[in-house]
Amino acid sequence: MTQAVLNDKRAAIPRGNYINGKFRVPRHADGAIEKRNPANLDDVVGAFSFSRVAADEAILAAREAQRAWAARSLEDRINAIRKVRAAVVNRREDLAAAITREVGKPLWEARREVESMAGRLNVVVDAGLRDVADFVPAGVRGGCRYRPLGVIGVICPFNFPALLAHGFVVPALVTGNTVVFKPSDVTPLVGQVYAEIIDDANLPKGVFNMVQGGGDIGARLAASPRVDGIFFTGSVATGRAIEAVCATQPGKMLVLEMGGKNASVVLDDADIDLAVHECLIGGYITSGQRCTASSRVVVTRKVADEFVKRFMERAKAIRVGDPRAADTFMGPLASEAIAERFLGRVALGRKEGAVALIDGGRFDARAKGNFVAPSVHEVVARSGSSAYQSDELFGPDVAIYRAKNIDAAIEIANDTPFGLVASVFTKSEKSYRAVANEVRAGLINWNRPTVGADARLPFGGAGASGNHRAVGLHAIRWCVTPVSHLEEPVGNVEKWPGLGPAPKTPYEPD
Ligand code: NAD
Repeated sequence: MTQAVLNDKRAAIPRGNYINGKFRVPRHADGAIEKRNPANLDDVVGAFSFSRVAADEAILAAREAQRAWAARSLEDRINAIRKVRAAVVNRREDLAAAITREVGKPLWEARREVESMAGRLNVVVDAGLRDVADFVPAGVRGGCRYRPLGVIGVICPFNFPALLAHGFVVPALVTGNTVVFKPSDVTPLVGQVYAEIIDDANLPKGVFNMVQGGGDIGARLAASPRVDGIFFTGSVATGRAIEAVCATQPGKMLVLEMGGKNASVVLDDADIDLAVHECLIGGYITSGQRCTASSRVVVTRKVADEFVKRFMERAKAIRVGDPRAADTFMGPLASEAIAERFLGRVALGRKEGAVALIDGGRFDARAKGNFVAPSVHEVVARSGSSAYQSDELFGPDVAIYRAKNIDAAIEIANDTPFGLVASVFTKSEKSYRAVANEVRAGLINWNRPTVGADARLPFGGAGASGNHRAVGLHAIRWCVTPVSHLEEPVGNVEKWPGLGPAPKTPYEPD
């Protein structure tokens, strides 16, 4: 099998879309994504062409394959996905290298992303399937049976380009759906390598399809009446656009997993060393490009000075650089546009009054990549109209807030349209629970950063962060639809006055 070329010196060989079990470069492309390595802009990864017609073909292929795939036994489908899991393990280094080359994520971190893919099938088999098991209430003839939705479109962001795709593809396929996957236009090579992995597993043709492209192709997938569900992970702006194109299709399952403006709350009795260390991880891992990033740290008064001093010392020492180096904590931002957008949002924040404690900015003017240094700001005046205080920045910046007490800290933590993750640093379980009871978030951690999640638990958030908590354990719930069955004539169970004679003997099936 041809493998994607991952060597930085040579371009990858773009193989086109993966439709009906075959890679094909579109004959009449609508355009191409020219992808460069964000750590070295001289390194052209490749030009990945896309086509609207191909997107329609992929949907059709998925439609045509779906009934036969759903008709297979569950055991059969699980065995097929076991082969996918084996193929992921087999190609793990290629996949991690592609993530590093396209996202700029340090290689050690890209490897962790790929490693956590292996556990997804177990989550589905061990716990997920129980959640969507057919059932018969006592005294009912018939019961509830779960059916696959049909064709599911999986639209992914750039920051976890393999794990997030896999997290939806596995439960979708296990439950008898077929899939059209659109990777981010920032990570076309990862999309290609992932499709190669599925190809290695020899699934029946059309069960899994991959189409390259950006927003146009994603919108086409979302709008198609032949797609029964859209599993979207990305920004709130794109999520809203998808919601708008699906507004006339109320029957379409729309799963929206969006951003965060997460706060870590550090209380007076916290272990400050621990809090500083964990908040650094939360704020700057993946160069802040995580939906779960600890972009805000709220510190109560007594420990604020000490926390800020130590946090700044440690933030200045973070190693930013070549994502392939073993001792790099932060690589570049994933594209020039992403870096520009982030720096623009920080600059606006300063105009709005945020005080720079560490400037950040372009890391090294001579570097041929989108390197940005960590920054720290203090918000001295809270404002509902500040974009810096309410929007997701998605880069290596942490905003510090001082709070006079625990109640003020909770109020600040909740002062955001998002509601994805919060975390609390305190030695007191009572204080932790007090914060946890009041903070609006889908995930609340104790003495840990806001980043990091366990796929055996539900994942997702409130408000602008999304709708169904559909990453992790509960993904499978949204891949199926319940159908209720009553399988006994009503004449068997009730009398019908004025209707005339009922059958002499109650109906019994053969
Ligand atoms: P994005 O919204 O720019 O793009 C996400 C995907 O949507 C891409 O594949 C893109 O091509 C596609 N797209 C763009 N316009 C579209 C349209 N009109 N219709 C359909 N598809 C369209 O997001 P991004 O910059 O790639 O990723 C970062 C965002 O993702 C952040 O907001 C982050 O918080 C969020 N995210 C959320 C989670 C989560 O689980 N909640 C996880 C990771 C990332």
